[in-house]
Amino acid sequence: MSDSSRRPATAAVHAGRPAAEPDQPLNTPLTMASTYVAGGDLEYGRYGNPTWAAFEEALGELEGGRCLTFASGLAAVSTVLDLVGTDAVVVAPRHAYNGTVMQLADLEARGRLQARLVDVTDTDEVVAACTDAALVWLESPTNPALEVADIPTIRAAAHEAGAYVVVDNTFATPLRQRPLDDGVDLVVHSATKYLSGHSDVLMGAVLTRDEELYGVLKGRRDLIGAVPGTLEAWLALRGLRTLHLRLDRAEENARTLVDRLRAHPAVAEVRYPGFGGIVSIVLSGGALAGDLLTHKTRLWVHATSLGGVESTFERRRRWKTEPATIPDGLVRMSVGIEDVEDLWDDLAPALDDLVG
Ligand SMILES: *Cc1c(COP(=O)(O)O)cnc(C)c1O
Repeated sequence: MSDSSRRPATAAVHAGRPAAEPDQPLNTPLTMASTYVAGGDLEYGRYGNPTWAAFEEALGELEGGRCLTFASGLAAVSTVLDLVGTDAVVVAPRHAYNGTVMQLADLEARGRLQARLVDVTDTDEVVAACTDAALVWLESPTNPALEVADIPTIRAAAHEAGAYVVVDNTFATPLRQRPLDDGVDLVVHSATKYLSGHSDVLMGAVLTRDEELYGVLKGRRDLIGAVPGTLEAWLALRGLRTLHLRLDRAEENARTLVDRLRAHPAVAEVRYPGFGGIVSIVLSGGALAGDLLTHKTRLWVHATSLGGVESTFERRRRWKTEPATIPDGLVRMSVGIEDVEDLWDDLAPALDDLVG
C-alpha cells in the first residue's frame, strides 16, 4: 500500500509489493495470464494484470497520481493525443521527442488535428499559442536539445484556454520533477528509458490525478490494446527499484563530464539543464566530427535511446527526420553509471583526435 509520507527512494524500493504476510513472496510475481476466472474485476488480460498493477502503483506513488502502463512510450503518447477532437489545436515543442513530432505530423496530414509547434523556451510565444488550444504538450527538458519549459506559467495559460496540459517527464523522472504538483493534467513517460533503466524493455506510462481522465484513458487502453507485456512490466518494476541510485550516479558522472567537455577545444557548446544524466554537445567540426567521435570509442556505445546503466551516444541528425534546427554536429550523450574516469579516458582521446 502507498504511504504518502515516505520519501521517493523508499517508495522506489517498497511500493507495489505484495502484503508482508507469511509465505507471501517479497516481490510481485510475474503473472502470465490471458484470462482470469470470471466474476472478479480483471476478467481478461487486455483489461488488467497484477504485474502491471504493481508497476503502476510504484510509479503512481513516485509521480503522485494514478498510473496506466502502455506497450511503449509512443503508445502512451498516441493514447493521450486521442483525447482531443477532430481539428483540435495541439501546441507542442518543435524540439519534442522526434517520434512525438512525427506522430503529430502524421495526425495532421490525415486531417485529425492541427499541430502548432513552438519554441518551448520562449514562454511568451507558448502562452500566445495556447489561446485556442485543446491540448498543450510539454516536454521538459526536450530530447535532444535539452530546453527547459516554464511549466507553471504555461500550465496556467493553457488552463485559462480550457486546454489539457501534458508533460513528457521522461528525461527528468519523478525524482527531479513532479509535474502533477504543478497542476498539469497528465504526465507521460517512456519507461523504456530511466524508469526501467537497463536498455532491455519497451514500455510507456500515463499518470493523472483526474479520476475522469483516468477512466477515459483506461477505456482507450482497453479498446486500442496497446498494453505492455507482463515480463516487460516485471522488468521495469525491477529496474525502478534502483532508479534513485542510477540517476544519482549518472547525474554525478554527467556533471563531471560537463565541466571537462566545456573546456575541450573540439566542443563548441555543451547543453546540460543542470540535472539528470543526458548531456548534448555540439562539435565544432560538425557532422563529420560527430560521426568520427561516435565510431572512435570503446566504452561509449554508438546507439540510439538513453537512460540505461551503460553510456551511449549518437549524432542525432544521422536520423533524416530530426529537425534541421538541431545542429548537424550535436551528439546526445546518455551518461551511464560506470566509473567516470573510465568514461573520460575513453572519450578524451577521441575528442583530441578531432582537433589534431
Ligand atoms: C524515447 C522517448 C519517447 C518514446 O518512447 P518509446 O518507449 O521509445 O516508444 C517519448 N518521449 C521521450 C522524451 C523519449 O525519449
